[in-house]
Amino acid sequence: MSKHVVLTGDRPTGRLHIGHYIGSLKNRVTLQNSGDYDNFIMIADTQALTDNARNPEKIRQSLMEVALDYLAVGIDPAKSTILVQSAVPALAELTMYYLDLVTVARLNRNPTVKTEIKQKAFGESVPAGFLIYPVSQAADITAFKADTVPVGDDQEPMLEQTREIVRTFNRTYNKDVLVEPEGYFPPKGLGRLPGIDGNAKMSKSLNNGIYLADSADVVQKKIMSMYTDPNHIHVEDPGQVEGNVVFTYLDIFDPDQSAVAELKAQYQHGGLGDVKLKRRLVDVMEAVLTPIRERREAYAKDMGAVEQMLIDGTAKANVVANQTLAEVRAAIGFNYFDK
Ligand code: ATP
Ligand code: MG
Repeated sequence: MSKHVVLTGDRPTGRLHIGHYIGSLKNRVTLQNSGDYDNFIMIADTQALTDNARNPEKIRQSLMEVALDYLAVGIDPAKSTILVQSAVPALAELTMYYLDLVTVARLNRNPTVKTEIKQKAFGESVPAGFLIYPVSQAADITAFKADTVPVGDDQEPMLEQTREIVRTFNRTYNKDVLVEPEGYFPPKGLGRLPGIDGNAKMSKSLNNGIYLADSADVVQKKIMSMYTDPNHIHVEDPGQVEGNVVFTYLDIFDPDQSAVAELKAQYQHGGLGDVKLKRRLVDVMEAVLTPIRERREAYAKDMGAVEQMLIDGTAKANVVANQTLAEVRAAIGFNYFDK
């Protein structure tokens, strides 16, 4: 039996943060180490360009940072193929073909894209490439015939869109070429980590993240400035647990959940100060981040090796994606010159 296939990735719009870690990176490492999957992990520079066309330097600078973040969390180039999207031209060609199987009305309905368009304040100037990026994601996923896509909750609409394209393609061209993917999501509640400012999503673009590469000092400062309950002013005041980001993070990252339950009771009752609570979170996050930070620093000493990893991974990815593209062209009937 052929192996299952994983495809997932990140936009190189900055370094990766603990939202990426809990929403996707951790699951990727689990799937990778299970040995049951062929793993493709893509640095989505073409997709990043859809809302950064006038700032390609940001993407260029972030590329190697994201690669380092991968290595730091335990993605192993011996087990996972790490590729750069723009260097796999078949992905762009597949996108062109899939665009004809999707309506503009359908693209306009995508709830994640709608939220992002509002956040980015495009107004009337939404780049066409941004609106269609879910179609390019369908190309990325199907090029590798991935059946498993480890991502955060915000990616659910993209997976639905991909499944629709797969079904429409296979039906329209009467061939079973493309594979329908399933999302591989973190347990409920972990798929969308809020930002340190209380915003519903920690995001590179919103500048509200704790980054895997942040120093211990920076992590401490960020946690000390975190959003809690704005009405919890004095230690003795009763405080809100719901919507309090410090508790959200403790729920997710603190291994001692019975202690967290006690802290919640105390906080709600009054008598537990934010500073004490935040100090606990600093310790909890440091336990998670210290080994990641140390591995990152070790890999950063040989950037030549990191670059070679991307060259090798991208070469391997081109072989697989070109094979799928040939099948897609043949299914459409665009194989005029094939022998
Ligand atoms: P950008 O703001 O540039 O879109 P981002 O922070 O949203 O950046 P992406 O590169 O778009 O990051 O997302 C990469 C992966 O991380 C996706 O699988 C996404 O679902 C997941 N992810 C991103 N942010 C979070 C979050 N706050 N909580 C959980 N998962 C997340
Ligand atoms: Mg995003």
